[in-house]
Amino acid sequence: MLNIHAINAFDDNYIWLIEHKNIACVVDPGCASSVLNFLKSNPHITLGAILITHHHADHTGGINELQQAFAEKLQVYGPQNQIAGINHQLTPATELDRAQNLSIAPLGITAKVFATPGHTLDHLCYVIEDKLFCGDTLFSGGCGRLFEGTATQMHHSLSELAKLDDSTKVYCAHEYTLANLAFAKAIEPNNDDLMAYAKQAVTRRDNQLATIPTNIGVEKSINPFLRAHCETIWQHLQQEYSLTVNDPLQAFTSIRKLKDEF
Ligand SMILES: [Zn+2]
Repeated sequence: MLNIHAINAFDDNYIWLIEHKNIACVVDPGCASSVLNFLKSNPHITLGAILITHHHADHTGGINELQQAFAEKLQVYGPQNQIAGINHQLTPATELDRAQNLSIAPLGITAKVFATPGHTLDHLCYVIEDKLFCGDTLFSGGCGRLFEGTATQMHHSLSELAKLDDSTKVYCAHEYTLANLAFAKAIEPNNDDLMAYAKQAVTRRDNQLATIPTNIGVEKSINPFLRAHCETIWQHLQQEYSLTVNDPLQAFTSIRKLKDEF
């Protein structure tokens, strides 16, 4: 039985702490002090490992300070890239069904790891039981910006995530939901599921509650970046933006560009 705790960092980052029998790993600790404060308030939990999704500083900035705080004993898993402090470099396939089985030794649990290039070229996603830790690849109502990869790569990466069971909980690294949904509504104004979800998300934020985790089934019904195959969206792109779209990748590429300018 895993317990997942959200640790808030910076303006809108979530550092996810995964706890199994009082041993924990944190995903993307951009900030060490936020993690150390959490552990101080929860002294029964010991940190044993770190999972890194990609090289951006708001995901990796706390690695060294955490290592120092734990006498250099942390197992740090992450992509093969120039990220200081990773002591287990991973180079998994880009297909979910060829994912690497990674034993997270201190916790005695196994993660499925696969590569999801797009936001960055080194991006990894981790699936542990029914939980997906996807960094900046998939957000609720949106997806990561294409800083390094191509639209083709990101479209493929998101298509692999969409193969997970609908009940899979999605633990992304940012609370970007309301801004994403404002854009999603412009792309799909007649999606009733989206309108209902957006209303619920506003209420949660008004009450200082997180909108994360979401799940794959919900995202498939409301997230335009997982819905680029829908011909209703193609028609809307034509009518509203005079964009001619003939296939899902073209639609995805157009939607990503529109979001960058939104
Ligand atoms: Zn990033």
